[in-house]
Amino acid sequence: MNERIKETTLRLEASDLEQAPRYLEFLCECADPRCTDHVEVTPEEYEEIRSEPTQFVIRPGHENGAIEDAVWSCERFVVVEKEVAQDFLEATDPRA
Ligand SMILES: [Zn+2]
Repeated sequence: MNERIKETTLRLEASDLEQAPRYLEFLCECADPRCTDHVEVTPEEYEEIRSEPTQFVIRPGHENGAIEDAVWSCERFVVVEKEVAQDFLEATDPRA
């Protein structure tokens, strides 16, 4: 939800500054809960990443090979697929 609000805001800013790179900034989604690094992704890249619900975008070097497989990388970010994401969410669900 917060991501969607931020995306809309950045798109409005981008239309004012046509020469500026159209990057969205996201919090790194790596396995470290203390990580506060940000990742820059274009709207097109973000849509492609989010087309798969098990894919997450993280900073290069933040991969955790035990639970994630890198499926796409560039100098700005790495997209990982968390195959155990669903099991992990269920295991850590405070209501379970
Ligand atoms: Zn991270």
